[in-house]
Amino acid sequence: MTVCSDRQTRKTCRIIVDPEQAASQVADTVMHELLHACCDLIGTTDQLTSDVEESVVRRLAPVLVDVLARNPQLVLWVQHSAGGS
Ligand SMILES: [Zn+2]
Repeated sequence: MTVCSDRQTRKTCRIIVDPEQAASQVADTVMHELLHACCDLIGTTDQLTSDVEESVVRRLAPVLVDVLARNPQLVLWVQHSAGGS
C-alpha cells in the first residue's frame, strides 16, 4: 500500500511539507500533491481507484518536475500563454 509522505489539505488548499526534506524532495512533494488536486478537480475518482491514482501520481510527479526544471522557457511560455505575468 502506498501512502503520501505529506498531505494536501483539501479544505484549505494547502500543501504541507516536511521542512526537513531536501529542496528537490519538496518540489517532488508539491508536484505530487498538485497532481492529486488536479485529479480531484477533474473528478477521476469515478475512473481510478485511490491506489491507481497514487501510482500514476507517483510516476508523473518526478517526470513533470524534471521537465519543468529543464525547460524554464516552457514555464515562461505557459505563464504568458495562460495570461499570467
Ligand atoms: Zn499521493
